Amino acid sequence: MKVSSKFISLKEYIPLGKPSLSNFELNEKSLDFKNLDDVLVSNSWISVDPYMRARMTERKNYKPPFDINEPLEGAAIGKVIKSNSLKFQEGDIVLSDCGWRDNFITNSSKLKKINPIDIPLQTYLGPLGMTGHTAYTGLFQIANIQNKQTVLVSSAAGSVGSIVCQIAKNLGCKVIASTGSDTKVKWLINEIGVDHAFNYNNIDNLVLYLKEIEPEGFDLYFDNVGGNFLESTIYRMKNYGKIVICGRISQMNTTEDNGGLKNIAHILVKRLTMRGFLIFDHLEDTKKFENDMENWILNKQIKWKETIREGIENAPQAFIDLLDGKNIGKMLVKI
Ligand code: NDP
Repeated sequence: MKVSSKFISLKEYIPLGKPSLSNFELNEKSLDFKNLDDVLVSNSWISVDPYMRARMTERKNYKPPFDINEPLEGAAIGKVIKSNSLKFQEGDIVLSDCGWRDNFITNSSKLKKINPIDIPLQTYLGPLGMTGHTAYTGLFQIANIQNKQTVLVSSAAGSVGSIVCQIAKNLGCKVIASTGSDTKVKWLINEIGVDHAFNYNNIDNLVLYLKEIEPEGFDLYFDNVGGNFLESTIYRMKNYGKIVICGRISQMNTTEDNGGLKNIAHILVKRLTMRGFLIFDHLEDTKKFENDMENWILNKQIKWKETIREGIENAPQAFIDLLDGKNIGKMLVKI
């Protein structure tokens, strides 16, 4: 049986700077459904994630660069249309890393069956998926968060950040949230329930501003952005504070070398712990994360928002919009 598959691929590597639509291409190919373990999946939702930017350069990273002219890999949720595998049957909902395409054929080892609770399927790409897991692991395993700490979160209105804010609030922490627009500030205060939120684009001197809003400093900083923001927060950490290095989105498209952190001495003097992590190293606690998050969602202790673009052909624009901060919560493409 022949199946047509539309997909987005990269035309060339993007060594520096912001990606543009001309770097991507919509392609189509015909696939053969013929092998013993073949499963044909039709995607319903695809995830759009900042880490994909790193795979668009030719440099070695924790994941290899994307293959040019091949479908971009990434998380997706779809429905099994036809299966030669005993593990899957028609109608099953599956999570894969098979990425930006409408239909695809793979073998059963590349698919994870989802038994959805009573929530929209795409939640398994957001709060109940990789970004929720990142927030959970960063706070519990990496930072060992404690009740009533003072916590600063950057990119706080994003998919990871908004879950970080809420887990910390549920633990009785005081949460200060940084984000890039006044609309997001309102959402963080009115819906997510943080103690204070600010638009970093309106702040001239971040160190002084952080001192003004939190004179005692921060126990924990959950860093999604890196760069100058990270450097400024180091000045405002309490002694023995912890910094979780989750992401560096402010540095992903830079064309200039910003010289790195200039205040390492403060890490020493304040005896700070700064630790990076990748969620792919922490999959052993996935079941525990899923149980906790399902309970929080069912008990309405976690809220979320999605920014949705429609059609596989609009995935590149969704990615560019994500890097430009046009999303609130999880950026998704509906197929
Ligand atoms: P988000 O939903 O947070 O979306 C990205 C956001 O980044 C944008 O909405 C924008 O929000 C912000 N941003 C863009 N450019 C800048 C800039 N120059 N300075 C400050 N903020 C900027 O994405 P995710 O929740 O998916 O990811 C958040 C972070 O976590 C990323 O850095 C990502 O790479 C990282 N991550 C790390 C993982 C790990 O295993 N360590 C796993 C998953 C994600 P704003 O309007 O606030 O500027």
